[in-house]
Amino acid sequence: MQGKLMAARWGRALLDRLLPNACALCGGDSSEALCAGCEAQFFGPAAAIARCVCCANPLPSGAPPGETGPAAGPLCGVCLRHPPAFERTLVAADYVLPVDQLVLQLKFGHRLALAPLCARLLRDAVLRQQGVALPALLCPVPLGPRRLAERGYNQALEIARPLARGLGIALHARLVQRVRDTAAQSSVTPAERQANIAGAFAIADAALVAGRHIGVVDDVMTSGRTLNELAATLKRHGAARVSNLVFARTPPH
Ligand SMILES: [Zn+2]
Ligand SMILES: [Zn+2]
Repeated sequence: MQGKLMAARWGRALLDRLLPNACALCGGDSSEALCAGCEAQFFGPAAAIARCVCCANPLPSGAPPGETGPAAGPLCGVCLRHPPAFERTLVAADYVLPVDQLVLQLKFGHRLALAPLCARLLRDAVLRQQGVALPALLCPVPLGPRRLAERGYNQALEIARPLARGLGIALHARLVQRVRDTAAQSSVTPAERQANIAGAFAIADAALVAGRHIGVVDDVMTSGRTLNELAATLKRHGAARVSNLVFARTPPH
């Protein structure tokens, strides 16, 4: 009896791994990649918090409405003192447990099927914003050639493709290129991060950028230095406005 039960459990665990109808977060039965309960709990309107429109960091709760930025919304103190090169950041969630598991599985577990889920959750979060100005063109944060060869795909591009379709925006997968391989920002000290990323990007076709609102897609935003360097590069080539569309935001410590 015991053996039979064990076999049934093992069989079930194996099926859960093989079949796509288990929720990617709780493992419960779900015909979708994410069950309705997890979606409501971690990505629904009730999970939304007040964020700086520019960098998407959480704003202190109960604070009076602060100064308004170019994207017509409240700004955090950091963005007020040192405005980044981008105007807006839109995110689906904070990069914390258990949401980070979706990104880790996508990035390091080769679960590419999670990219359309991340894209749909991000699209829903973008469209929930009142009066949001959508970019005219989307591009992914590019990986350096060495990292692309190691992983075999760019997770930002995998999210950007279904996101562009979902929002009805054109995607230019190679609009921005990495001129050189950089060390992972997480592997260098905070003091070294700016130098690590400076001059890392080049624009393939400046005519596509000049005078336009460009949307930059990434899976995770941590310090924001990479996205700031990319936005500054786009601005140097005449971009009128840059918005970041990022699946998850690492909250400040
Ligand atoms: Zn679930
Ligand atoms: Zn901010």
